[in-house]
Amino acid sequence: MSETRTTCPYCGVGCGVLVTAGDGGTAAVRGDPEHPSNYGRLCSKGAALGETVDLDGRLLYPQIRGRRVSWNAALDHVAAGFTRIVAEHGPDAVAFYVSGQLLTEDYYVANKLMKGFIGSANIDTNSRLCMSSSVAGHKRAFGSDTVPGCYEDLEQAELLVLVGSNTAWCHPVLFQRIRAAKEQHPERKLIVIDPRRTATCDIADLHLPVKSGSDAVLFNGLLTYLFQNGRVDFNYLEAATEGYGQALQAARDSAPSIPAVAAACGVAEQDLARFYHLFAATERVVTVYSQGVNQSSSGSDKVNAIINCHLATGRIGRPGMGPFSVTGQPNAMGGREVGGLANQLAAHMDFDDPQQVDSVRRFWRAPNMAGQPGLKAIDMFRALDEGEIKAIWIMATNPVVSLPDADRVRAALRHCELVVVSDCMANTDTTACADVLLPAAAWGEKDGTVTNSERRISRQRTFLPPPGEAKPDWWIVSEVAKRLGYAEAFSFQSPAHIFREHAALSGFENNGTRDFDLSGLTQVSDETYTQMQPVQWPVRSAQPGGTIRMFGDGKFFTASRKARFIAIAPRLPMNALDDEYPMVLNTGRVRDHWHTMTRTGK
Ligand code: SF4
Repeated sequence: MSETRTTCPYCGVGCGVLVTAGDGGTAAVRGDPEHPSNYGRLCSKGAALGETVDLDGRLLYPQIRGRRVSWNAALDHVAAGFTRIVAEHGPDAVAFYVSGQLLTEDYYVANKLMKGFIGSANIDTNSRLCMSSSVAGHKRAFGSDTVPGCYEDLEQAELLVLVGSNTAWCHPVLFQRIRAAKEQHPERKLIVIDPRRTATCDIADLHLPVKSGSDAVLFNGLLTYLFQNGRVDFNYLEAATEGYGQALQAARDSAPSIPAVAAACGVAEQDLARFYHLFAATERVVTVYSQGVNQSSSGSDKVNAIINCHLATGRIGRPGMGPFSVTGQPNAMGGREVGGLANQLAAHMDFDDPQQVDSVRRFWRAPNMAGQPGLKAIDMFRALDEGEIKAIWIMATNPVVSLPDADRVRAALRHCELVVVSDCMANTDTTACADVLLPAAAWGEKDGTVTNSERRISRQRTFLPPPGEAKPDWWIVSEVAKRLGYAEAFSFQSPAHIFREHAALSGFENNGTRDFDLSGLTQVSDETYTQMQPVQWPVRSAQPGGTIRMFGDGKFFTASRKARFIAIAPRLPMNALDDEYPMVLNTGRVRDHWHTMTRTGK
């Protein structure tokens, strides 16, 4: 029995696991001691992976309206439905709703089909809910969607600030690393900013239970404090940033003093003063934030309010310091890289740059290149409900449970002309609404790559044969594409084949203008791809070992190569309360389960 080196399919920590497949669909799992994300650790979800690989509840055969059919019949039906609806109503009448559970290669092919060949940008992902606020915040500040640091920074920080992040439950192995570092260095400080007292607070030196949604006031107050107390690095501002004056003015307008901020955020003045003092006085500070910041009615502003404070002190891109967004899903980052969001192109290119649209069009030899953003997740399902979208293909996600206003999502799917669902599980709330069910290969049967929260690309490797007639998602999408008339562009033979194209696109007409650059991996052979070790992008020919940290040289990816401060006028959800909407709601995650429990519920 040999062990297969692969990656956990759950959260954005991206832990390496070693798996030994046993008889009858069983598997023994242990943490990979050599994987740099976890060094052998696993959480309860990862440790129980072996208990999820049996066939109980699996979707094994294609179905049309509950009747088992051949793959050919199912694929023909999907292609005919999409062809008819596009012909009658145009490309924007169809949509893909995809997932951070997909591998990068699956994602790449789905995005290519929708944006380059069907001719709409109506492809969005459940990662929209997870971290699109961070994407927007990063791009506003850095000119690129870049997490500047790495996990080691969390261990090297003298002050770690966790904002809207119940790391103990949501990113448990990262939490284990943080706790171990704190045990080794008890003098280091940990501050948790969260409306709830969570398990993460158990190791915190200070918990600030801010009012829901008041994070931007808190960090605007910090920006004001840093200025008032002479803690701004003006040399860095001058050399590497722009827009500080307006950002400071907005901060002083909304958060002029500790008493004003304490009142707005609902925290004690002395606790707030302690946080501000620690941040101001400590050089190595990392601010980790996740869904408590991102899943918000003003998430991007919260992200930029945090980044502003790191720019003001020049604490970014160096060991033990920087803003750090941790993603929810195993491949939310991979989705961002291939353009899985409706307002992105591919390879970190954008619709608002006509040259980039043209670059992608020429690279793909795309006959129907989308020229503008498509509908984002919430708008996509609204359009479905209102009949503007008439066919949707949902891959590897369960929106009838996980989207807000879920009853409306179910109703919209019920009256949609064509609902296609690819999944590895047979009975989810979403598969119950499908006209066509396509059995997808599950973790353990799939082969490809994922990117974790620190830009680290790792391989997921096959250790089980796909059961029944299950197929990889990239194969399913490619087969539909061929039936839509695009055989040449979708003649992919393997995940390695797709990865090479993805890497080549990232380097295409790049010349250092885009940080997402895998040009050093464009020529990987099938053999090298099979053996590929975890690596952090960018991976250029000159840096084949990847890049641990970004922006240490003070150069960013804006037109001026300077980072941008963003002036933030906080929008507090409680200010919008009225008799009709009298509550502020919060989101959270359950420690031992994943998303809607379709797999971990076993
Ligand atoms: Fe999997 Fe995340 Fe747990 Fe690591 S921390 S084992 S990636 S769920």
